Formats: sequence, structure tokens, C-alpha cells
Amino acid sequence: MKVLIVYAHPEPTSFNAAMKDLALETLSSRGHTVVVSDLYAMGWNPVTGEGDFTGERSDPTRLSIAREQTYAIETGTIAPDIAAEQAKLADADLVIFQFPVWWFGMPAILKGWADRVFARGFAYLAGRKYDTGMFKGKLAMVAATTGTSADTYAPDGIDGDILTVLWPIHNGLFRYSGFDVLPPYVAFMPGREDEAGRKRQLDGYRQHLENLETAPRLFFHAAEDYGPNERLKPGVLARSGQQRNV
Ligand code: FAD
Repeated sequence: MKVLIVYAHPEPTSFNAAMKDLALETLSSRGHTVVVSDLYAMGWNPVTGEGDFTGERSDPTRLSIAREQTYAIETGTIAPDIAAEQAKLADADLVIFQFPVWWFGMPAILKGWADRVFARGFAYLAGRKYDTGMFKGKLAMVAATTGTSADTYAPDGIDGDILTVLWPIHNGLFRYSGFDVLPPYVAFMPGREDEAGRKRQLDGYRQHLENLETAPRLFFHAAEDYGPNERLKPGVLARSGQQRNV
């Protein structure tokens, strides 16, 4: 497989860096080709705006990011830093997001990577979402760290189920654009573990990586489970991460 690791941590000696290096080593040694986008090292600009479009604008009078993204993709005038990341994404069979959970989500630099790289016309279009998403056939996975324990991220924990916390990424970004989503690997609270505990977490991640090909994908309801209003049809039991029957 061709693997793209999108890595978002500012410190090269961080636990996230160790996880990124471990993935690079483990997946390469298993014959996969691994490319890393190290967003802090690249000085990635996370802020979308008019600078993302290098050609004439579709509408010079009013800036609609989605409209200009679509036009820039059609005309080959998306900014070169975005085009370079889109080429890596288009080439990858598996995308891994490696990040610390910051305020129950991705660090801003990674969120901004998604805002700019998952552009309309490249990552989605009318009628091209979820089951018909543009990245159908590709895999995606979160590898993350937290500041608090696994208990706090249990379904009855104070921080809420980790799968609920990750739902915006799993469903809103990956599944929305057609990826099959692998179970995440979360190293809980590495900063409060001792050396042996951190080693166990890295060993666990190595095993997780070694089992990727056979790991069951996260469940998402198929298009036929939804009615015309895009709600689950009556009688369909809600089974995916965040949905529930009402
Ligand atoms: P580090 O502090 O870099 O590393 C932890 C320890 O591992 C260090 O002692 C390091 O030396 C050691 N280490 C590094 N490499 C290795 C190696 N190879 N082998 C063994 N040990 C190693 N947490 C939450 O749970 N929820 C939140 O919403 C949240 N919001 C945050 C918002 C912000 C803005 C910030 C700054 C933090 C937030 N946190 C939150 C905490 C954050 O998630 C954790 O601090 C982070 O995930 C820990 O990962 P790290 O890579 O930064 O750890």
C-alpha cells in the first residue's frame, strides 16, 4: 500500500513524533511505501482564503470558498501547496492522521490542512458523498494521544466516548469523502505514564499497524438505510458511532 501520514505536532521529541516514526518504520518494513506530511516542519498555512486561488476568480465580487475551490480544481489554479498535498492524498491507499487531541479535536494546523486540501471538486461534490464519495476504495485512520485517561473517554466517562469525540473526523471528513475507516489507535495520557507504560502504548500501536489489513472497518450506515430526508428509515437500528434512534 501507499501510505500518507499527516503529522501534526510541533515537537520532534514528542510522543506523537515517536508514534509517527514507529508507523513509518513498521509500515515500511512490511513493504508499504510511506510518505509523511510533517505540517509544522513544512510551515503549513492552515488558513483558507483568497490566496488559495492563483487564477482568475469564478466570482471576483464575492468570495465563496467552496465555489472558488471547485473552479480552481477545474481550471488547475489551486495554490501549489494545496495541489502538492492533494497529489499525495490522491496517490495514497491509506491516510493516517497523527495528532494530539487538542480541545476535543484536531490541532488547528491539521484542521486547516483538511479545510484547504479536502477542497470541493477534489474531495466532494454534489451527489459525491459517503457511499459515493470521491475517495471510495481508500482507507483512513486516526492515531492520536490524549491528556486524560482511557476511563475519562469511556462511554460513561466525563470526557465522553472517544468514538464520539472522533466522530467529526471519522464521519464528517473520512466517511463523508468516501473512505473506509479503520479503528483508531489512541494512546491515552502518555505524559502521565511511566517509561514501561509508554513502551506498552508504542508496542500496542505496532501491533495495531501490523493488523491493519485484517482489522474490521468502523461501521457506517449504507445509503439504503436512509429515507429521502437522510434520516435512518423507521425500523433501522442506529449502529454507527454517534447516531441513535429517537
Ligand atoms: P509529550 O508530552 O510530547 O510526550 C509524553 C511523554 O512521552 C514525554 O515524557 C516524552 O518525553 C515521552 N516520549 C516521547 N517519545 C518517547 C518514546 N519514543 N518512548 C517513550 N516515551 C517517549 N487532552 C485531552 O485529553 N483533551 C483535550 O481536549 C485536550 N486539549 C488540549 C488543548 C491544547 C491546546 C493542549 C496544548 C493540550 C490539550 N490536551 C488535551 C492534552 C494533549 O492531548 C496531550 O498533552 C497530548 O496528547 C500528549 O501527547 P504529546 O505527544 O504532546 O506528549
